[in-house]
Amino acid sequence: MPHLGRRLAAVTAALAMSVTTGAMSPASADPRHTDKNPTATGYGGAVSTVDPEASAAAIEVLRKGGNAVDAAVAAAATLGVTEPYSAGIGGGGYFVYYDAKSGKVSTIDGRETAPAGIKPDAFIDPATNKPYRFTPELVTSGVSVGVPGTPATWERALERWGTLSLGDALKPAIKVADRGFVVDDTFRNQTKDNQARFEAFTSTKDLYLQGGKLPEVGSVFKNHDLADTYRMLARDGMDAFYNGPLADEIAKTVQSPPKSPDTTLPVPVGSMTAEDLANYKAVDQDPTHVNYRGYDVYGMAPSSSGGTTVGESLNILDVFDLPGLKADQPAVLHHYLEASALAFADRGKYVGDPAFVNVPTKELTDPIFGKERACQLDPNHAAAKPVLPGDVANYDASCPAKPAALADEKDTENISTTNMTVSDKWGNVVEYTLTIEQTGGSGMVVPGRGFLLNNELTDFSAVYSATDPNRIEPGKRPRSSMSPTILLEDGKPFLALGSPGGSTIITTVLQTIVNRIDLGMSTPDAIAAPRASQRNTASVTAEPAFIDKYGAALTSRFGHKLTPSGDSFTSASEIGAATAIEFLEDGRTLAAAEPVRRGGGSAMVVKPEK
Ligand code: GLU
Repeated sequence: MPHLGRRLAAVTAALAMSVTTGAMSPASADPRHTDKNPTATGYGGAVSTVDPEASAAAIEVLRKGGNAVDAAVAAAATLGVTEPYSAGIGGGGYFVYYDAKSGKVSTIDGRETAPAGIKPDAFIDPATNKPYRFTPELVTSGVSVGVPGTPATWERALERWGTLSLGDALKPAIKVADRGFVVDDTFRNQTKDNQARFEAFTSTKDLYLQGGKLPEVGSVFKNHDLADTYRMLARDGMDAFYNGPLADEIAKTVQSPPKSPDTTLPVPVGSMTAEDLANYKAVDQDPTHVNYRGYDVYGMAPSSSGGTTVGESLNILDVFDLPGLKADQPAVLHHYLEASALAFADRGKYVGDPAFVNVPTKELTDPIFGKERACQLDPNHAAAKPVLPGDVANYDASCPAKPAALADEKDTENISTTNMTVSDKWGNVVEYTLTIEQTGGSGMVVPGRGFLLNNELTDFSAVYSATDPNRIEPGKRPRSSMSPTILLEDGKPFLALGSPGGSTIITTVLQTIVNRIDLGMSTPDAIAAPRASQRNTASVTAEPAFIDKYGAALTSRFGHKLTPSGDSFTSASEIGAATAIEFLEDGRTLAAAEPVRRGGGSAMVVKPEK
């Protein structure tokens, strides 16, 4: 629903007044931010997130002289309050940073890790000897909780590139958690979708189903427990998360979930210990790099498959003159879908946590490998899916014989997560995707601490195989699809973008780049355009609007099968919720968010153009 926030603003101003007590009367000096604009153009720094409170937090930091990294941490911490079902300190993510002074792109891998005690058969039910079902067992469980990486990511980002202390970066979020934010349709619906899971835990019920009820749209939601947790971290540093009482409480929640006496959900327990938390490290990583039609594209290296899969797809597409096909949008989209399927085949075969398996990142992003893979892309016909992976040990850009098809695989990744893009007046840029995996994570709030734990370990392959790069192993990061991406032109930022959406993150980022560069759309239009996702499966998953617009041509001319997107968990039919910033040639900055998906996002700039 477009501009929900704007329509809500009048109602909520009145309501906010009605819950505001004397102690909070300076609320007028610190208004709640409900007004959402999906685009903003101007100067002095910019931000795009899914939420106006988070974007306002970033702008506040930028206005006071903080840089893009400071603002990104402030916005992320605020999203932990206002988007708690998508991200927070109980989860993980990937942080990509362009440093204006050095012209260099660097990244931090803040992915969750498996506990040291996890066994290869962790996803097998000991009672039946059969694999746990994805829903309800794995999704709502202790066994799927990974050691959170988000607190360590914020600490590391601030330490490497920030100017603020952690305490100062957390201030805006603490304020929002204490004074409350206005509940919108998205928050209420996400709570509703999770109701049975949230009722299963006393701690979660107490926080998100107060009085046993769903939060009302337009009411003010406060989270003092989280404010207190943030205050503790502000005072004592992230060590207070990974060592000490909070680490013990997280381990206890995982090992002995605070189940409501009347729940019927099975909730398998996990093995995480306080020692697992003490051993967590966010990892500095080199980004992936490919060149696409003259733009240098930097992405997230494994343990995310984002950088290699977006990068390989672009290398394949670079072989074809898509800008020359611009007038024939279905033809361009056909190439996009087919390139993505080929890159997903290689993602499945080769990508896992590089600390545990040998990931051929260099080969997967090598333009010569892309050229050879492009031989499998027929400009006129969709290949039978799934297509086979390529051979990274043996390629030379010649066209090998067409391989036979494999059996189809089911894609079990779900859609949640959040993404943000931030820039500052010095020209630094942050692209940051963070998550607790499923919307609502594991469903378990750490009692009295105000945040949900992730269920990120569901991103390991469900069935264990010793040759699978994404098999469960102790201490390992499950393969991600998060794809925070920064494109440079002549060494200067051109576009930064990312999205939530499980494995559709990769295709959303790829399609948005194709829309912008090859189809010549503006960045806001490239984000708003209907989406489709081909992840090497028999059918393309597509938003209904995509099927309406391109379905007939893609089916009759190229032989694609299209299935409407929809998630059995939430019945949402949207793919992704992207944010981006484009750096315009005349020096202005254009921040762009979704106009409609997830209720619309929030783009802001420090100094709007006149
Ligand atoms: N777990 C997913 C990933 O790392 C992100 C969660 C989502 O967006 O659904 O790729």
